[in-house]
Amino acid sequence: MRSTGLFTIMVCLICAANFQYSMAEAVESRAAPVNTMLTGLADILRKAGLKVVEVAGWKTRGHGVMSSVKGIICHHTAGAKTGDYPSLAVVRDGRPDLKGPIAQLGLGRTGTWYVIAAGKAWHAGSTKDDSIYGNSNAIGIEAEGVGLPATDTGHKNWPEVQYQSYIKGVKALQKAYGVATARVLGHKEAAVPKGRKIDPNFSMAEFRAALNK
Ligand SMILES: [Zn+2]
Repeated sequence: MRSTGLFTIMVCLICAANFQYSMAEAVESRAAPVNTMLTGLADILRKAGLKVVEVAGWKTRGHGVMSSVKGIICHHTAGAKTGDYPSLAVVRDGRPDLKGPIAQLGLGRTGTWYVIAAGKAWHAGSTKDDSIYGNSNAIGIEAEGVGLPATDTGHKNWPEVQYQSYIKGVKALQKAYGVATARVLGHKEAAVPKGRKIDPNFSMAEFRAALNK
C-alpha cells in the first residue's frame, strides 16, 4: 500500500508538472504584453540557444513602457566596418538629434545579441500603421552592418552566422509575444513615406520565408 501511495503521489506530481508546463506554454503564446517593460527579452533569446549580452541598465531603459508587442522591425545600423557591435553606444545613448535608446535589441556580426532596452525605443519613425509598427507597439532590432550596397536581394552582404542568428532570434521573439510572420517587417517596408529607409539590405521575403520553416 505504501508503495502504491508513493506511486500515486509521483503520478500526481508529474501531472501537475505537465499541467503547469502546458499552462505556461499557453500563456506564453497568447498573452501579449500590455503597457509594460519587456524584461523577458534576455531570457527569451537565451532560451533559444543564442549568445546574449545584457547591457547594464537595460531592464529600466526606454522612453516609457511598451504599449504592446504587435510587430517586429528589422534594421541595420549602417555603422562601422569592424567589430562585433560597434554601434552599441549609439543604439543605447542615441545621437545629438535622437535620444537613446534607439532600439531594444542589437545583433552583432558574430550572431551575439545585445539586450539594450526593455522599454520604448525610437527606431521606427512614421510607419504605415503605427498601431502595429510604431515605436509603442513594435520591437526594434538594430543589426550591425555597413548597410551597403543597398539591395533587396538575397543576404550575401551579411555574415551567415549573423543572418542565421537574426532568424533564430526573431523566431523566438515571435513565439514569446505572439507576433505573426506577416508582422515582421524591414524598416524599409514599414517606414513612410515609401523610400524613406533602405534597411535592412537583405531580402525580407527570403527572411520571412525562413521564419516559417
Ligand atoms: Zn532602420
